[in-house]
Amino acid sequence: MKVNLRADIAIIGGGILGLAHAYIASREGRSVVLFERNPRATGASIRNFGMIWPIGQPAGEMHQLALKSQKLWIAALNEARLPYLATGSLHVVYRDDEADVAREFCEIGPQLGYSCEWLSREDVLRRSAAVRTENLLGGIWSSGELTVDPRQVVARLPMLLQERGVALRYGSAVRSIDLPTIEAGSETWQVDDAIVCSGDDFQTLYPKVFELSGLTRCKLQMLRTVPQPGGWQLGPALAAGLTLRFYKAFRACSTLPKLVERIARETPECDRWGIHALVSQTAAGEVTIGDSHEYGKCVDIFDKTEIDDLILREAATFLNIPSWQIAQRWHGVYSIHPDRAFFEAAPVPGVRIVTAPGGSGMTLSFGLAERTFQRT
Ligand SMILES: Cc1cc2nc3c(=O)[nH]c(=O)nc-3n(C[C@H](O)[C@H](O)[C@H](O)COP(=O)(O)OP(=O)(O)OC[C@H]3O[C@@H](n4cnc5c(N)ncnc54)[C@H](O)[C@@H]3O)c2cc1C
Repeated sequence: MKVNLRADIAIIGGGILGLAHAYIASREGRSVVLFERNPRATGASIRNFGMIWPIGQPAGEMHQLALKSQKLWIAALNEARLPYLATGSLHVVYRDDEADVAREFCEIGPQLGYSCEWLSREDVLRRSAAVRTENLLGGIWSSGELTVDPRQVVARLPMLLQERGVALRYGSAVRSIDLPTIEAGSETWQVDDAIVCSGDDFQTLYPKVFELSGLTRCKLQMLRTVPQPGGWQLGPALAAGLTLRFYKAFRACSTLPKLVERIARETPECDRWGIHALVSQTAAGEVTIGDSHEYGKCVDIFDKTEIDDLILREAATFLNIPSWQIAQRWHGVYSIHPDRAFFEAAPVPGVRIVTAPGGSGMTLSFGLAERTFQRT
């Protein structure tokens, strides 16, 4: 006998975008089924720093979306009883041109909606015991950044969804959508709407849309230390001069081009591999250090020792941790659009594709999901 499987809405993809869409849809009282092709989601969402990082977003719409997303994150984390570190962030600076950008950002930032503040060297050291003191000039303090453990989130957020009645279908790839019918694994579902959050899978569903979209991939290498001894705490998540040239928020600074030019001249290897050093800590005390950026549809499956060494070299210019013993190395891949902050499309009535928030998918996920439902 064929069972009648029905839901108001199907979400395709168990990464953070899929989970956030399922969370918002179920909050709105819709019956939801979530499909993830793997027994557990192993895409970008489990491989990242877990930084919810509004300060990286460009002023205006995207920064506002990130702030909204951060509030939704906190609500979801509390509901799921998931720990997070609301430590804020510090961008620490050691060179005059870095300090020029940091100071300028702290001057113009508040008018642009950022709650940030320039800290003197002494004030940085009061906020963080993890920062190298030699040649330290100061830093940007921002209280709004959070760190979650992506491995816990991807494992446990689905449990909250299940408690709310979301049907979870892990190990079930969606092969075709022809509304109201969805073919997934060995099942056929009837749904009113579908949201496709398939990460960097450009082939299975709507390959023509993806082919014309301009989307590409980005590979990032990452490292994680052993748990730091004695319950040592990182405090604020850390970034430094290289990051000022990376996040679009800082492009509002007239002093940035000089810094970009100096980095390109002095350390072209960092530009070559898109390296900037970011540091966060998990609730278990491990320190996550990354990352690099290699763009292109065909991802090199082999990691480069040179890149890991450069990431560690750059992190060591500002980071002072008790143990540098590396416990894990991995890479992650996300989809990204060259010009847009994310990609969305409505290939047929009732179906929306929402993907490619690039390096900001954790930050933006819940805000993007809420936005999707405000538009449908
Ligand atoms: C190393 C690294 C560090 C990062 N750090 C941060 C950070 O600190 N802060 C931040 O904001 N962002 C960060 N990002 C970016 C962020 O991780 C991504 O933007 C985000 O995870 C993308 O989520 P997603 O759900 O779109 O994709 P994914 O997590 O890749 O999930 C897509 C899922 O869809 C499934 N799927 C695909 N097709 C089908 C199908 N047909 N049927 C069923 N399932 C399907 C896949 O199996 C996959 O699990 C980082 C990314 C990486 C790689």
